[in-house]
Amino acid sequence: MSVPSTCLLCGLGDESRDHIYFSCSYSRSVWDSFFTQTSFNQPYTFSEVIRWVHHSTPPGKIRTICKLVTQAVFYAIWNERNKRLHTSVARHPQLIIREIQIILKAKLYGMDQNVGNTNRISSVRPNPGDRYLHLWFQNFPS
Ligand SMILES: [Zn+2]
Repeated sequence: MSVPSTCLLCGLGDESRDHIYFSCSYSRSVWDSFFTQTSFNQPYTFSEVIRWVHHSTPPGKIRTICKLVTQAVFYAIWNERNKRLHTSVARHPQLIIREIQIILKAKLYGMDQNVGNTNRISSVRPNPGDRYLHLWFQNFPS
């Protein structure tokens, strides 16, 4: 299969790992939509990602949410790149951002339900302010 060496997302840069996920204007707009209005300093290169998720975010549920956002952004960008390669259909970054927000909110809601189920057994009610979904709305723009 012939794969162009030019980025399929922006059509400008060479298709390298760091370009696709961090330097590309398309990817940048997806990352920025989640992190520019937060207090978290997001990674700007692939090598910074692992250090960032382990050391640059507050521990606990916020770190878990940041990890989920990171995984979702990576998946969505690669998925969009592959869709463009195989179908030539291009989606605006805002659609990708909206899709990630919906998936993450559903995931976080499910995680809150699982925590609630665990706590029901021990008769301990989770603090509503400590729920994943509450922390999402508190820290990430929707
Ligand atoms: Zn690009």
